[in-house]
Amino acid sequence: MLDAGFFHRWMTAAASAVDREADRLTELDSAIGDADHGTNMRRGFTAVTAVLDREAPATPGAVLMLAGRQLVSTVGGASGPLYGTLLRRTGKALGDEPEVTPQQLAEALGVGVAAVAQLGGAQAGDKTMLDALLPAADALGTSFEEARKAAEEGALATVPLQARKGRASYLGERSIGHQDPGATSSALLIAALAETAGADGGGA
Ligand code: ADP
Ligand code: MG
Repeated sequence: MLDAGFFHRWMTAAASAVDREADRLTELDSAIGDADHGTNMRRGFTAVTAVLDREAPATPGAVLMLAGRQLVSTVGGASGPLYGTLLRRTGKALGDEPEVTPQQLAEALGVGVAAVAQLGGAQAGDKTMLDALLPAADALGTSFEEARKAAEEGALATVPLQARKGRASYLGERSIGHQDPGATSSALLIAALAETAGADGGGA
Protein backbone atom coordinates (compact mmCIF):
# COMPACT_ATOMS: atom_id res chain seq x y z
CA MET A 1 0.00 0.00 0.00
CA LEU A 2 1.08 3.56 -0.72
CA ASP A 3 0.60 6.17 1.99
CA ALA A 4 1.03 9.96 2.12
CA GLY A 5 4.72 9.48 2.97
CA PHE A 6 5.24 7.54 -0.25
CA PHE A 7 3.70 10.36 -2.31
CA HIS A 8 5.72 12.94 -0.43
CA ARG A 9 8.91 10.96 -1.18
CA TRP A 10 7.87 10.71 -4.85
CA MET A 11 7.54 14.49 -5.08
CA THR A 12 10.91 14.96 -3.34
CA ALA A 13 12.55 12.51 -5.78
CA ALA A 14 10.89 14.32 -8.70
CA ALA A 15 12.23 17.64 -7.42
CA SER A 16 15.78 16.21 -7.24
CA ALA A 17 15.52 14.78 -10.75
CA VAL A 18 14.19 18.05 -12.15
CA ASP A 19 16.94 19.99 -10.37
CA ARG A 20 19.63 17.62 -11.70
CA GLU A 21 18.26 17.71 -15.26
CA ALA A 22 17.11 21.35 -15.41
CA ASP A 23 19.88 22.43 -17.78
CA ARG A 24 19.07 19.60 -20.16
CA LEU A 25 15.35 20.45 -20.09
CA THR A 26 16.13 24.07 -20.87
CA GLU A 27 18.50 23.03 -23.65
CA LEU A 28 15.77 20.90 -25.24
CA ASP A 29 13.35 23.82 -24.90
CA SER A 30 15.87 26.17 -26.51
CA ALA A 31 15.82 24.00 -29.66
CA ILE A 32 12.04 24.03 -30.15
CA GLY A 33 10.68 26.53 -27.61
CA ASP A 34 11.77 29.48 -25.50
CA ALA A 35 14.46 27.93 -23.30
CA ASP A 36 12.61 28.10 -20.00
CA HIS A 37 11.33 24.58 -19.31
CA GLY A 38 14.16 23.63 -16.93
CA THR A 39 13.89 26.85 -14.93
CA ASN A 40 10.07 26.62 -14.90
CA MET A 41 10.14 23.07 -13.58
CA ARG A 42 12.90 23.71 -11.06
CA ARG A 43 11.03 26.70 -9.63
CA GLY A 44 7.82 24.67 -9.45
CA PHE A 45 9.21 21.57 -7.80
CA THR A 46 11.33 23.54 -5.33
CA ALA A 47 8.08 25.18 -4.22
CA VAL A 48 6.31 21.81 -4.13
CA THR A 49 8.84 20.25 -1.73
CA ALA A 50 8.77 23.38 0.45
CA VAL A 51 4.99 23.38 0.83
CA LEU A 52 4.84 19.59 1.38
CA ASP A 53 7.54 19.78 4.06
CA ARG A 54 5.64 22.61 5.72
CA GLU A 55 2.12 21.20 5.58
CA ALA A 56 2.68 17.41 5.43
CA PRO A 57 -0.78 16.49 4.06
CA ALA A 58 -2.19 13.31 5.61
CA THR A 59 -3.42 11.42 2.54
CA PRO A 60 -2.04 10.53 -0.91
CA GLY A 61 -4.80 12.54 -2.58
CA ALA A 62 -4.06 15.62 -0.48
CA VAL A 63 -0.32 15.41 -1.22
CA LEU A 64 -0.90 15.41 -4.97
CA MET A 65 -3.59 18.06 -4.89
CA LEU A 66 -1.41 20.42 -2.86
CA ALA A 67 1.56 19.74 -5.15
CA GLY A 68 -0.59 20.42 -8.22
CA ARG A 69 -1.93 23.70 -6.81
CA GLN A 70 1.62 24.76 -6.07
CA LEU A 71 2.74 23.98 -9.63
CA VAL A 72 -0.10 26.02 -11.12
CA SER A 73 0.86 29.04 -9.04
CA THR A 74 4.63 28.84 -9.54
CA VAL A 75 5.53 27.24 -12.89
CA GLY A 76 3.88 29.53 -15.41
CA GLY A 77 4.12 28.82 -19.12
CA ALA A 78 2.08 26.10 -20.75
CA SER A 79 3.48 23.38 -18.54
CA GLY A 80 2.38 24.90 -15.17
CA PRO A 81 -1.37 24.52 -15.67
CA LEU A 82 -0.84 21.18 -17.45
CA TYR A 83 1.32 19.59 -14.73
CA GLY A 84 -0.86 21.24 -12.09
CA THR A 85 -3.91 19.61 -13.66
CA LEU A 86 -2.13 16.27 -13.87
CA LEU A 87 -1.36 16.19 -10.15
CA ARG A 88 -4.57 17.81 -8.92
CA ARG A 89 -6.81 15.53 -10.93
CA THR A 90 -4.78 12.41 -10.11
CA GLY A 91 -4.95 13.40 -6.43
CA LYS A 92 -8.67 14.08 -6.60
CA ALA A 93 -9.23 10.66 -8.18
CA LEU A 94 -7.40 9.05 -5.25
CA GLY A 95 -10.04 10.46 -2.89
CA ASP A 96 -9.32 10.70 0.83
CA GLU A 97 -8.08 7.19 1.53
CA PRO A 98 -5.08 7.10 3.89
CA GLU A 99 -3.44 4.42 1.70
CA VAL A 100 -3.94 3.38 -1.92
CA THR A 101 -2.86 0.39 -3.99
CA PRO A 102 -0.58 0.71 -7.02
CA GLN A 103 -3.60 -0.30 -9.09
CA GLN A 104 -5.63 2.61 -7.69
CA LEU A 105 -2.72 4.93 -8.49
CA ALA A 106 -2.60 3.58 -12.06
CA GLU A 107 -6.29 4.31 -12.52
CA ALA A 108 -6.05 7.75 -10.93
CA LEU A 109 -3.06 8.65 -13.10
CA GLY A 110 -5.15 7.69 -16.12
CA VAL A 111 -7.77 10.21 -14.98
CA GLY A 112 -5.10 12.89 -14.49
CA VAL A 113 -3.56 12.27 -17.90
CA ALA A 114 -6.99 12.43 -19.56
CA ALA A 115 -7.53 15.80 -17.88
CA VAL A 116 -4.22 17.05 -19.32
CA ALA A 117 -5.34 15.95 -22.78
CA GLN A 118 -8.64 17.73 -22.34
CA LEU A 119 -7.09 20.96 -21.03
CA GLY A 120 -4.40 21.19 -23.71
CA GLY A 121 -6.38 19.66 -26.56
CA ALA A 122 -3.44 17.41 -27.47
CA GLN A 123 -3.43 13.71 -28.25
CA ALA A 124 -0.85 10.97 -28.70
CA GLY A 125 1.69 11.83 -31.40
CA ASP A 126 1.38 15.63 -31.07
CA LYS A 127 4.90 15.78 -29.55
CA THR A 128 3.94 16.84 -26.03
CA MET A 129 4.20 15.52 -22.49
CA LEU A 130 1.29 13.25 -23.33
CA ASP A 131 3.58 11.10 -25.47
CA ALA A 132 5.32 10.05 -22.25
CA LEU A 133 2.33 10.23 -19.89
CA LEU A 134 -0.22 8.21 -21.87
CA PRO A 135 1.95 5.09 -22.27
CA ALA A 136 3.19 5.46 -18.68
CA ALA A 137 -0.34 5.53 -17.24
CA ASP A 138 -1.21 2.44 -19.28
CA ALA A 139 1.92 0.55 -18.25
CA LEU A 140 1.52 1.46 -14.58
CA GLY A 141 -1.25 -1.13 -14.50
CA THR A 142 1.54 -3.69 -15.01
CA SER A 143 4.34 -2.32 -12.82
CA PHE A 144 6.24 0.80 -11.79
CA GLU A 145 9.23 -0.37 -13.79
CA GLU A 146 7.17 -0.88 -16.97
CA ALA A 147 5.74 2.62 -16.50
CA ARG A 148 9.25 4.06 -16.22
CA LYS A 149 10.31 2.30 -19.43
CA ALA A 150 7.16 3.33 -21.29
CA ALA A 151 7.61 6.99 -20.34
CA GLU A 152 11.28 6.95 -21.35
CA GLU A 153 10.49 5.30 -24.68
CA GLY A 154 7.59 7.70 -25.24
CA ALA A 155 9.86 10.70 -24.67
CA LEU A 156 12.51 9.32 -27.06
CA ALA A 157 9.81 8.63 -29.65
CA THR A 158 8.97 12.36 -29.80
CA VAL A 159 12.25 13.05 -31.66
CA PRO A 160 10.99 12.31 -35.21
CA LEU A 161 7.55 13.84 -34.59
CA GLN A 162 6.36 17.22 -35.81
CA ALA A 163 4.85 19.28 -32.98
CA ARG A 164 1.15 19.96 -33.31
CA LYS A 165 0.55 21.66 -29.95
CA GLY A 166 2.28 24.27 -27.85
CA ARG A 167 5.05 26.67 -28.75
CA ALA A 168 7.04 24.05 -30.70
CA SER A 169 4.16 23.75 -33.19
CA TYR A 170 4.99 27.27 -34.46
CA LEU A 171 8.17 25.77 -35.92
CA GLY A 172 6.26 23.38 -38.17
CA GLU A 173 8.64 20.88 -39.77
CA ARG A 174 11.62 22.44 -38.01
CA SER A 175 10.37 20.87 -34.77
CA ILE A 176 11.28 17.46 -36.22
CA GLY A 177 14.52 15.92 -34.93
CA HIS A 178 14.35 17.27 -31.36
CA GLN A 179 13.09 15.58 -28.21
CA ASP A 180 10.12 17.30 -26.61
CA PRO A 181 11.08 18.99 -23.31
CA GLY A 182 7.72 18.29 -21.62
CA ALA A 183 7.80 14.60 -22.57
CA THR A 184 11.33 14.50 -21.16
CA SER A 185 10.30 16.05 -17.82
CA SER A 186 7.30 13.71 -17.66
CA ALA A 187 9.65 10.75 -18.04
CA LEU A 188 11.66 12.15 -15.11
CA LEU A 189 8.54 12.29 -12.94
CA ILE A 190 7.63 8.71 -13.76
CA ALA A 191 11.23 7.56 -13.21
CA ALA A 192 11.10 9.27 -9.80
CA LEU A 193 7.92 7.32 -9.04
CA ALA A 194 9.55 4.00 -9.99
CA GLU A 195 12.65 4.90 -7.98
CA THR A 196 10.48 5.68 -4.93
CA ALA A 197 8.63 2.39 -5.28
CA GLY A 198 11.92 0.53 -5.73
CA ALA A 199 13.36 2.12 -2.59
CA ASP A 200 10.28 0.90 -0.72
CA GLY A 201 11.09 -2.59 -1.98
CA GLY A 202 7.71 -2.69 -3.68
CA GLY A 203 6.48 -3.30 -7.18
CA ALA A 204 2.99 -2.93 -8.54
P1 ADP B 1 6.08 27.17 -22.59
O1 ADP B 1 5.86 26.40 -23.86
O2 ADP B 1 4.92 28.05 -22.25
O3 ADP B 1 7.39 27.89 -22.59
P2 ADP B 1 7.30 25.09 -21.01
O4 ADP B 1 8.52 25.38 -21.79
O5 ADP B 1 7.45 25.06 -19.53
O6 ADP B 1 6.13 26.10 -21.40
O7 ADP B 1 6.71 23.67 -21.42
C1 ADP B 1 6.72 23.24 -22.75
C2 ADP B 1 6.15 21.83 -22.82
O8 ADP B 1 4.77 21.86 -22.51
C3 ADP B 1 6.22 21.20 -24.19
O9 ADP B 1 7.47 20.59 -24.40
C4 ADP B 1 5.07 20.22 -24.19
O10 ADP B 1 5.47 18.94 -23.74
C5 ADP B 1 4.12 20.80 -23.19
N1 ADP B 1 2.93 21.33 -23.85
C6 ADP B 1 2.79 22.51 -24.46
N2 ADP B 1 1.53 22.64 -24.95
C7 ADP B 1 0.87 21.48 -24.63
C8 ADP B 1 -0.47 21.00 -24.83
N3 ADP B 1 -1.38 21.72 -25.47
N4 ADP B 1 -0.78 19.77 -24.35
C9 ADP B 1 0.14 19.03 -23.70
N5 ADP B 1 1.41 19.45 -23.48
C10 ADP B 1 1.77 20.65 -23.93
MG1 MG C 1 9.19 26.98 -22.77
